[in-house]
Amino acid sequence: MYSEQEQHHLNQLTEQLIKHTGHKPDKEKIEALRQVINYHDWRYYSLSQPVILDVDYDKLFKELRKLEEERPEFLTPDSPTQRVARGLTDDFKQVSHLVSMLSLDNSYNAEDVNAFDKSVKKLTGAEHIQYCVEPKFDGSSIALVYENDMLVRAATRGDGAVGEDITNNAKALASIPLSAKFSKFGIHRIEIRGEVIIQKEVFERINNERKARGEKLFQNSRNTASGSLRLKDPNESATRGLEAVLYHVSFAEDKEGKNLLADKLHTHFETIEILYKCGFKTPIHELKVCKNAEEAIAFIELWNTKRNTFSIETDGMVIKVNDLKMQQKCGSTTHHPRWAMAYKFQAKQAQSKLKDVEYQVGRTGAVTPVAKIEPVALAGVTIASISLHNEEFIKEKDIHIGDTVIVERAGEVIPYIMGVVPELRTGHEKKIHFPKNCPSCNSPLIKTEEEAIWRCDNADCPAQTEERAIHFVSKDALDIDGLGRSIIIDFIQRGFIKNLEDIFRLPYDEILKLEGWGERSVENLKKGIEDAKGRPIWRLINAFGIRLVGVTTSKDITSHIKSILDLENMSLEDLTNIEGIGPKVAQSIYDFFQTPSNVKLIKALDEMKVNIQNRPEDSLAKNNKLEGKTFLFTGSLQQFTRDRAKQLVEENGGKLLSSVSANLNYLVVGEDAGSKLSKAKKIPSITVLSEDEFLNLIA
Ligand code: AMP
Ligand code: ZN
Repeated sequence: MYSEQEQHHLNQLTEQLIKHTGHKPDKEKIEALRQVINYHDWRYYSLSQPVILDVDYDKLFKELRKLEEERPEFLTPDSPTQRVARGLTDDFKQVSHLVSMLSLDNSYNAEDVNAFDKSVKKLTGAEHIQYCVEPKFDGSSIALVYENDMLVRAATRGDGAVGEDITNNAKALASIPLSAKFSKFGIHRIEIRGEVIIQKEVFERINNERKARGEKLFQNSRNTASGSLRLKDPNESATRGLEAVLYHVSFAEDKEGKNLLADKLHTHFETIEILYKCGFKTPIHELKVCKNAEEAIAFIELWNTKRNTFSIETDGMVIKVNDLKMQQKCGSTTHHPRWAMAYKFQAKQAQSKLKDVEYQVGRTGAVTPVAKIEPVALAGVTIASISLHNEEFIKEKDIHIGDTVIVERAGEVIPYIMGVVPELRTGHEKKIHFPKNCPSCNSPLIKTEEEAIWRCDNADCPAQTEERAIHFVSKDALDIDGLGRSIIIDFIQRGFIKNLEDIFRLPYDEILKLEGWGERSVENLKKGIEDAKGRPIWRLINAFGIRLVGVTTSKDITSHIKSILDLENMSLEDLTNIEGIGPKVAQSIYDFFQTPSNVKLIKALDEMKVNIQNRPEDSLAKNNKLEGKTFLFTGSLQQFTRDRAKQLVEENGGKLLSSVSANLNYLVVGEDAGSKLSKAKKIPSITVLSEDEFLNLIA
């Protein structure tokens, strides 16, 4: 137990240690590290309320171990580094593992991997080492024992030596065979290790169901897996979509009690193959046996780019010496095997302080609270503001100004506030008061029963006009080149744009006189706007920014009309009958086209020669010939512009990539192609196309 005061002190000490401030002599530093690690262990394992990120904890732990190695005279038997692993509750029967379940040492970059490779070579005396590289599954670890082909025991990791007996719960998992033909491989008794996980999609579904029932949402799939696995009623854990992935054989003997590892069984890959053949879910399709560290690093990099699309949450990769004899030569410390190493992907989470909340008015009048945080670097970008979605979100997460917030950003995904760390509050935090009036026009905000969103209802609200116009010209809408956000805002302020049709009657003579504009840029703007007049009508429909209507719905509608004006005469029922359109969306479309000012706008656009007809050639262009294929263009293109090329790929269902990688299917080269071409030639799976060949693909 720690008092409030002690905790406060330890939190501050942690921050100092992470940031390397307040330099101390080694002995004092070692003691400080032990103190904070013990404290965070207590928070994590006893309270289940960590106040430190995993990466930071790892960093401190690693530093302590390093210091103790350098200064063995300060090593004490009660140091947290001398413990195998931690965490045990007394709800379940305790069982000893056949072989200790250790942690993994962590690495974060290629240098670390090379250092690991070096140490393996030193330990084994071998010059060439093969590594098996596989995803590090983010779940809850499990050890299964089979005897005579029957599952006899399942246990959690516990403290590494002793785990909890969860055999009954494990039996409820369909992916764990109750019997497996190990005898076919001469194995009589075997202990295998793996991870119980919840697939991302399943996790999302569970949370959606909980939301619908008004229950508290689960924070992440790892805690959910570990919690579900230890539920008292095993049937419920089965319904939660748990699955076991097995990736390690820790013990195997034949009938005579002879150890088969490194004797009959030679490589890690071989053991995975046996597990696979015995009916277990394994990483066999994801792993790669690499012939050296360099190949392992390249494979890790490849995974880093595609892990977001993998169905299971991974927080890194595991690099394992493939040869089991070599593994034995490496041995283990009390903490981790020396033949394996976890590679942690760049942090997805960071802590920051919430400085303030701003309120943005969207094009439909929805007011979104936006968190202004102290800038943090996360997965390659600096984040300073994050959406807080709505008032409910703030209440649910109990967010206060001044709070320490946990920010998460997974890959390309928009950053998200996972929650706050109430333990780090100082008492100076301020409650967030959602505004009662529009921050732009001061009209009172309203909230309907079925929505959690506050809206400004004023049709002339300047903030809304701005957002509507910005959306109107955006890439997925009319896609007007040369008319970006700042120009729109400027034109609105000057009174050039009061409503959407004004975009097609801009006073070019006056614009020419403005600072920053010249003949050329005005010509370009004019051309961009002229081009936009001829776009297919799904773009115009999307451009209106009708609530709940995006690109897909706009296209669905388009295939049922000849002219946009047809929509004025369609009943609610007509609209609901269109495939892909539900009652709410239909209502929203109906409301839009029954509003006289909107019909007036469409007629005005028509008069200014903006296309409102569904022309036959528009639907011809679209098909799915390039579905699932990825493209990159390089060199100077002769037959079409980059933008047109992009459009062609997207219209045909393909995807564009921004760099050459093994994920790329086609590189289309124009004249004077450079480094991208030479790089692509080294990757056999990439097909290089000329412009003509590309056009043939979609013809
Ligand atoms: P850590 O707890 O961060 O030290 O990481 C070690 C844990 O990673 C192991 O105890 C396993 O539960 C887990 N793990 C996930 N995937 C793998 C894998 N492919 N190979 C080995 N361990 C894994
Ligand atoms: Zn307003």
